[in-house]
Amino acid sequence: KAKDQGKNQYVFYNRDLDKKRCLNEEIEQDLRNALDKDELELHYQPQYTCSKELVGLEALLRWNNDKYRKVPIVDIINIMEKSTLIDEIGKFIIKSAFSFAKKINENREKKVIVSVNISAVQIMKHNFVRTIKKIITETEVNPSYVGIEITETVLLQNIGENILKIKELKDIGIKISLDDFGTGYSSFSYLVKIPLSNIKIDKSFIWGMKDSEEYRTLVKLCIDTAHALNLKVVAEGVETVEDLVLLKYMKADFIQGYLFSKPLPKHIIEATVLQ
Ligand code: C2E
Ligand code: MG
Ligand code: MG
Ligand code: MG
Repeated sequence: KAKDQGKNQYVFYNRDLDKKRCLNEEIEQDLRNALDKDELELHYQPQYTCSKELVGLEALLRWNNDKYRKVPIVDIINIMEKSTLIDEIGKFIIKSAFSFAKKINENREKKVIVSVNISAVQIMKHNFVRTIKKIITETEVNPSYVGIEITETVLLQNIGENILKIKELKDIGIKISLDDFGTGYSSFSYLVKIPLSNIKIDKSFIWGMKDSEEYRTLVKLCIDTAHALNLKVVAEGVETVEDLVLLKYMKADFIQGYLFSKPLPKHIIEATVLQ
């Protein structure tokens, strides 16, 4: 009997996997059409100084399709990365964000940096740097108005090669952010190895500050360490005035989070945040 049960469980497990595979294939198929149907869009989340001066906008992908509205965008991006979709959609994301950076800074004295998230899979493509440079030429954006956000996972494979790529981009003026700092395999040595402009302290640390002296200590340590290495600090996921007050006291440079603004569609950003 136990054996039967075990067998059933196995069949059940297999069916679950099948279901998941089918779903992923369906998503992949729908994603293939998403670009043509104009369903992919970037929202932008403002980044401010502690006194609410606008300094940057982070581009975040959104998929306007009722079927997938509830699927977290990271899951969608993971599916794109397992196929060749990341190439075309990745280029679309970078191009849209860079043209926006060009447009909004045209008649602006205080420049606003527009950043895009770049995954390890994207950096590892042999033509990654060439693609970025090509998009800069095509959009005619000043490279110092754009940034890329990477996580430490880009260093898990081909460290040397990826660092050279990042350095090449930093040398032409692109800002480099280390995203989700403090999670994953975080190591202080990355702060020295990767040519960075700033680090983004992960929101889990910011949320931890409320109830934990230890988390407050860690955040302060991150900020002081970054500053000692001449890096700026962005605090992610800032949702309350209490967090803001603490971060200001700890001398965080930039604030991003629902307290100041959620990610918003381009036209809303233009009509409100940029006014
Ligand atoms: P991330 O780069 O760390 O982006 C920050 C995420 O935190 C965003 O989620 C943002 O909406 C959310 N967030 C910001 N402030 C707050 C806050 O105060 N409270 C809460 N609860 N959440 C906040 P989103 O847009 O769902 O993106 C999730 C992740 O997906 C991103 O994390 C990034 O790793 C990835 N991602 C998003 N767009 C792209 C893209 O265009 N390309 C790539 N490669 N990855 C992307
Ligand atoms: Mg990011
Ligand atoms: Mg992050
Ligand atoms: Mg993240």
